[in-house]
Amino acid sequence: MSAVLHSYSGLDVVRPEVVTPSTDEEVLDALVAAGAAGRRATLRGAGASFHDQALNADQLISVGGVPSSVELSGREACVRGPASWGDVVEAGADCGLIPGIVPTSGRITVAGSVASDSVGRFSGVLGRVSTSLEGFDLLSPDGARRTIVRPTPGSSEENDRLFRAVPGGHGYLGYTTDIRTLLVPLGEAWSADGPPPRVQTEMVLSTSLEHAAQALVGDYLALHPQPAGQEEAREALGRSGHTGPWLITNTRGEGFLFRSRLVHGDTPLRPFFLHQPGGVAHQIAQTASVSSAWNQLGWRATWRAMQRNPAPYVDELQGFLFMMDGNWLARARLFALGLRPWLLQQSFAMPIDRTDSSPALRAERLLERVAREFHDAGLALDALDLLVAPADDTLLCAAPGVESVLVTPVVQGLLPRTSAKVIAVYHRLSRFAAELGGRVHLTKSVYVEPDVMQEMYGDAVRELDALRGLVDPYGVLQNRFLERIRGTWAGEGG
Ligand SMILES: Cc1cc2nc3c(=O)[nH]c(=O)nc-3n(C[C@H](O)[C@H](O)[C@H](O)COP(=O)(O)OP(=O)(O)OC[C@H]3O[C@@H](n4cnc5c(N)ncnc54)[C@H](O)[C@@H]3O)c2cc1C
Repeated sequence: MSAVLHSYSGLDVVRPEVVTPSTDEEVLDALVAAGAAGRRATLRGAGASFHDQALNADQLISVGGVPSSVELSGREACVRGPASWGDVVEAGADCGLIPGIVPTSGRITVAGSVASDSVGRFSGVLGRVSTSLEGFDLLSPDGARRTIVRPTPGSSEENDRLFRAVPGGHGYLGYTTDIRTLLVPLGEAWSADGPPPRVQTEMVLSTSLEHAAQALVGDYLALHPQPAGQEEAREALGRSGHTGPWLITNTRGEGFLFRSRLVHGDTPLRPFFLHQPGGVAHQIAQTASVSSAWNQLGWRATWRAMQRNPAPYVDELQGFLFMMDGNWLARARLFALGLRPWLLQQSFAMPIDRTDSSPALRAERLLERVAREFHDAGLALDALDLLVAPADDTLLCAAPGVESVLVTPVVQGLLPRTSAKVIAVYHRLSRFAAELGGRVHLTKSVYVEPDVMQEMYGDAVRELDALRGLVDPYGVLQNRFLERIRGTWAGEGG
């Protein structure tokens, strides 16, 4: 069967053959058969990738029809098939547990977000999806099913290399299932016979880009006076309920720093900033957000409202975690109407320097450059999203071994020529981020020149190639965006 498929950004469209296995064994057979037939295959979960991470013009193995389940054992969840983060949150709720990191849509599959090593609303405390990972099964085109575990002194070198490379490896090494991930106790906000916890958010207004970056990093450093280990971080979340800071701003630096914490489920909701994906008002706002004029207007109105009444607001836990579900619904509706709204968001990881008198300096400099580039190109930016994350160690991570600020300029629209201008700006920003010692985060849109990509990820991609030689000797699995970006590296094939 062939089908027309597009990325979430709306800018990448392909018409591949689509294979739809209905068991793990059939996924493995499809990978082996693709190799025997000389085909290139790409795995596809919920299809939420912003760019071409889950697209391919030859063969797509869409795993949505494989049975899914979530099984709890103590604090660990074993997630099989294409189960989503919404499924895991639901499974943990009755036991007072939630996944540490979830992306902002409950429809995204756990396997898909392991493949991109997602960040989420708790990243300021708990890092990325990979930090809670205890193990997974990997089914690869060489026909093998390997059980990979978090490295221990007794585990094999192959195990340890794959454990580091599969999270954030963009499905390049095989199909993952039976993903074992640690959940976090909801702490005092939860009681067995009470309603599910809610989330209370205090908002602090920033007045310049410099102030925004400093306020965000200041909050993060106050939560982590020392770089925290993951076990300590999980316990701290259970005790204090603090989820870690998050900030959005416009290019003038009129921003909102969100300080959230879990509270008991009987805390009254404050009817402001509630994320109700299917709600009429929410859908109107999400649909209208393709217009930058609407976004500027909405920003001003919210800013003024918060200046007048800065009291904390309270959200349902699901709404807080999955705040982008409404955007997904609204975009699906626009696509069904034959429109093609585009949405670009590219993240840059800018290291934090604890020893510097201005730990957020590199993020500040990037933010200034973002504002200048968009202004000079005559483009309106919808938002600048800033998140802080502890150090990471996966193979293709954007900030190896260092804490970082993830800076994400977000733009959407309807006119294709505007998207081309935004892409040109992303290319220039990628080069500037590299000059500052930062990297493009490979999860969302990824527009970067091959030489810059090589500077950022050259060694990591070479190790990925070596592992591919081990589990996928005929190069069956394709990852269009990694191959597109690295296509012209001298003397190296994709
Ligand atoms: C509304 C929305 C909100 C988002 N919020 C966030 C966020 O908060 N944080 C964040 O980091 N990202 C976020 N993202 C990006 C999203 O988390 C990633 O793109 C994620 O990889 C998508 O997973 P998916 O299940 O949709 O898989 P797909 O898009 O189908 O695939 C993603 C990648 O996973 C691979 N893959 C899929 N299934 C498997 C499998 N079983 N085994 C191996 N590889 C597999 C694919 O080959 C591809 O490389 C968001 C995206 C959207 C659309």
